Amino acid sequence: MGATIIDGKAIAVRVRGEVAAEVREFSARTGSAPGLATVLVGNDAGSEVYVRAKQRACAEVGIVPFDRRLPADASAEEVASELEGLNADESVSGILLQLPLPGQLDGTALTAIIDPRKDVDGLTPLNAGLLALGRPGLRPCTPLGVMELLAAANVALEGAEAVVVGRSNLFGKPMAALLLGANATVTVCHSRTRDLRAVCARADVLIAAVGRARLIGRDFIKPGAVVIDVGMSRLTPEQAGNASGLVGDVDFDQAIEVASAITPVPGGVGPMTIALLLRNTLDAAVAQARVRV
Ligand code: NAP
Repeated sequence: MGATIIDGKAIAVRVRGEVAAEVREFSARTGSAPGLATVLVGNDAGSEVYVRAKQRACAEVGIVPFDRRLPADASAEEVASELEGLNADESVSGILLQLPLPGQLDGTALTAIIDPRKDVDGLTPLNAGLLALGRPGLRPCTPLGVMELLAAANVALEGAEAVVVGRSNLFGKPMAALLLGANATVTVCHSRTRDLRAVCARADVLIAAVGRARLIGRDFIKPGAVVIDVGMSRLTPEQAGNASGLVGDVDFDQAIEVASAITPVPGGVGPMTIALLLRNTLDAAVAQARVRV
């Protein structure tokens, strides 16, 4: 039993406090507050919870929330028209299209309609391309949140062996690009990786984003490694062993014995995503105000 627990909740509170102070300064200087529009199509219960949390978090730091809802049977044209309206609205600094969308809609194609300057999820082709090129742009919130956690825990990335498990556009690919930008040596694993255990066991920094409860056990972890658990699976509280019923990709009880630092689930990466969404919205507002003056 040795690992330090990286407290995502506390670090997220710090980031939100910093954003709130900068929003106050921005609003005083420009005479208008940043605005974040969430677009929710349909009534998926999980997505509604996320959208409500994002709306509440905005209000707490002085960002104006815009809550746009479309019915589950909305057409691509209707969603596109909503996004185009928000693109043109100067009081909206950031736009977030809540994914996943109902089956008849193509999330990638609709996300691409968002003005890249308002793309606070960092998922448009332009922002993804800028990240791949190592150029400034809006970055996806969860990998940014992981970078913030690693910085807060004083993890040295330069030259470190970093392994990311998962290659989604939402997390794994941008995470790998950010680590590469920080001069880590990066390996990305996925469902076809041969001997996942052996690859993970090389990592100084191991980041798991799969969505398979407790996939990463003790023997996947090099002694002294830093372990970041992005995965979220919902079990019954009895199965999970915690009140929320949420567990990560990492077997926490085993990992804590061998890692030097580790994020818990819940209370690790999760709280960072919304904190970095607020930071991205402020950054987008600042960049748009600069263009207007
Ligand atoms: P995703 O799109 O489903 O991607 C999962 C990735 O895991 C894929 O690349 C897949 O490989 C890989 N994978 C599946 N089974 C594997 C196995 N047995 N061994 C190695 N790799 C395997 O999911 P995502 O959107 O990236 O999210 C991943 C997890 O992170 C989910 O639990 C999600 O809830 C969580 N998450 C949390 C936050 C947060 O705010 N805390 C944010 C985003 C995501 P293939 O590409 O080969 O299929």
